[in-house]
Amino acid sequence: MIFAAVLLHVVAVTILVFAVQREMRLIKLDVPDSIVFDDPDGAYVPAFAQQERVVYITVDDGPSRDATPQILAVLRKHNVRATFFVLPRDGCDDLYEQILAGGNYLGNHSYSHDYSVLYGTENAAEFRADTLRAENWLREKFGYETTLYRYPGGASGRPSAIIEPRDTVLRALGYTRVDWDISFGDDAPRVTPETMLANALNGIAGRDTVTLLLHDTATSAEALDMFIQEMKSRGYVFN
Ligand SMILES: [Zn+2]
Repeated sequence: MIFAAVLLHVVAVTILVFAVQREMRLIKLDVPDSIVFDDPDGAYVPAFAQQERVVYITVDDGPSRDATPQILAVLRKHNVRATFFVLPRDGCDDLYEQILAGGNYLGNHSYSHDYSVLYGTENAAEFRADTLRAENWLREKFGYETTLYRYPGGASGRPSAIIEPRDTVLRALGYTRVDWDISFGDDAPRVTPETMLANALNGIAGRDTVTLLLHDTATSAEALDMFIQEMKSRGYVFN
């Protein structure tokens, strides 16, 4: 009799454990891929949150009185941030400060933006000096430290004998080289915002992570407004 009672108990417990395990499996399966846990410390990032579709916006060659405030207004409107690969421009201190006040980032885009200085010979000494000059300028002027570098004119299409020693310089100085995947093509003359948008969207080709290049122009600000709207509707987030 006692044996039968013990056996019954064991069977009951086994069934209970199995049911709980099954319930746990069901709970796990019920978690949708798109959920992002609200974590005030930012310490816990679930693996699936890293699989989101992400856009990085980069703005080259600013700031300017004509365009930077418009670009910043678009970013504010959509509550997204961008990295501005800036050049040293006189009389624009307030614009750099507005960029930073909006939660955006500054990146090193050289001091001279002069291809003959930067890429004139295989020796990277002038390139290194120029990079440090821009870095020091950002630090002394705005107390800002950046570890992001964007090659003026880009690296692709330049001989590896030119780019490799410069990559070595950048690594030694602690920089991450930031290229781009898609572009507005806004450095060509008379491009409309609609064409800029089409240029960028054509380059996406199913990528989950894309870095967009635009330049600091008023027309590009218009295209950026449309681009952010479109990418949000496609499920991309901005970083
Ligand atoms: Zn540039």
